[in-house]
Amino acid sequence: STPGGPKAREEKIFVTVRVRPLSQKEQALNDQAAWDCKDENTILFKSSNHERATVPYTFDKVFGPNCLTQKVYEEGAKDVALSALTGINATIFAYGQTSSGKTFTMRGITENAVKDIYEHIKNTPERDFVLKVSALEIYNETVVDLLNRASSSLRLLDDPEKGTIVEKLVEEVAKDSQHLRNIISICEAHRQVGETSLNDTSSRSHQIIRLASMHKVNVFLLALFTFVFQTVESSLRENSGRVKSFIASLNLVDLAGSERASQINVDGTRLKEGCHINRSLLTLTTVIRKLSGSKRNSHIPYRDSKLTRILQPSLGGNARTAIICTMSPALSHVEQSRNTLSFATSAK
Ligand code: ADP
Ligand code: MG
Repeated sequence: STPGGPKAREEKIFVTVRVRPLSQKEQALNDQAAWDCKDENTILFKSSNHERATVPYTFDKVFGPNCLTQKVYEEGAKDVALSALTGINATIFAYGQTSSGKTFTMRGITENAVKDIYEHIKNTPERDFVLKVSALEIYNETVVDLLNRASSSLRLLDDPEKGTIVEKLVEEVAKDSQHLRNIISICEAHRQVGETSLNDTSSRSHQIIRLASMHKVNVFLLALFTFVFQTVESSLRENSGRVKSFIASLNLVDLAGSERASQINVDGTRLKEGCHINRSLLTLTTVIRKLSGSKRNSHIPYRDSKLTRILQPSLGGNARTAIICTMSPALSHVEQSRNTLSFATSAK
């Protein structure tokens, strides 16, 4: 062991890939399913030329188009989600291009996690749990509270004890699973219409966001649900001051589309590259790459974006992270899917 005690174990990031089924639209356009989920861990591009083998990609799990979200949850997220109930901070996020299935997957993961969380609480009578929920959306580095639509953009503050906190973010105590589901559905209803709260951003941004939602693309907005668990050992409560308590967060993140903003064609004009690139998304990918990289002591740029500042205590170190990379099976999206697989590879 090293001086100063054993070093905290660096958790490996759990990386899975989920390929959705071909959509009706893709089928109608006679698009082809271009990927072969060869086994539980392997995905490869279907080569039309049988002579030339394509390079297989391997991950902790690969979920094919027929795989249900329940299985994706059980095998790709459950352990990480439940670790928050034992005091370990956790983050689960979906990464992929727009329409690859991020929101679909994260909603399913959240539903399943809610069920298991209350099962765990019920089966752990020796502890008293308090579960607090907060939810926010980040758009062009503006943070909006999904539980308080009256609020405008929220500031991040550096608290000497708690680290980065989101000022005035509403935290609601969820009494039971039904209550938690209600809170989540209220937040879901507020998602992506949050632009009305963004009054302090430029009209240009408004126009882009309106057009983006009209065209059903979601490159700018990302949503973060945080469940904070506070617990004390109930059997010890009356005894003395020596109460074993802990506090830990589970963060569920539905990221913005991973394609570059420049590729979205709104009203015939290309968005200017650079100025509208999603800083939180890009910084998160950099942080993940660095955490997984070999250079253990390299600087991790948590402070370069709002999302990574907020997530810092739940990314890296002893925290546990699961990434579900979602992709379209379609041949027409092969370039984006390759980008997604390359990010997934760098995160392993
Ligand atoms: P994203 O959030 O990445 O933009 P969505 O989650 O909105 O993508 O998915 C796009 C569409 O594909 C939605 O209509 C969704 O219901 C559907 N979809 C996504 N993943 C699956 C899946 N695994 N099985 C069936 N339908 C899916
Ligand atoms: Mg989405």
